[in-house]
Amino acid sequence: MGRWKGTGGYQITVRPEGPPIERDTTQCVHCMGHWAVEPGSGRTRGWCPRCGGPHCGAPACWTCVPFMKQIAQQEARARLGESLGLAR
Ligand SMILES: [Zn+2]
Ligand SMILES: [Zn+2]
Repeated sequence: MGRWKGTGGYQITVRPEGPPIERDTTQCVHCMGHWAVEPGSGRTRGWCPRCGGPHCGAPACWTCVPFMKQIAQQEARARLGESLGLAR
């Protein structure tokens, strides 16, 4: 297994009763969550061609909404609410 290219890191879990477990970690391009890559874990992860990176496979992350865009949308919504006098 090669290293997963991209927004990855590297994680080593040291166990008192055995050799350390070395795992690659990578980051979801949509929710910024980290996970350790576990070959054969059975977890479905996805890849976003628009962001050019892996996503964590959570239901919300199958839709391409980059993290920065989510923040921008929330801010825009808040500003709209204020301008309409809805924000209390
Ligand atoms: Zn995610
Ligand atoms: Zn995306």
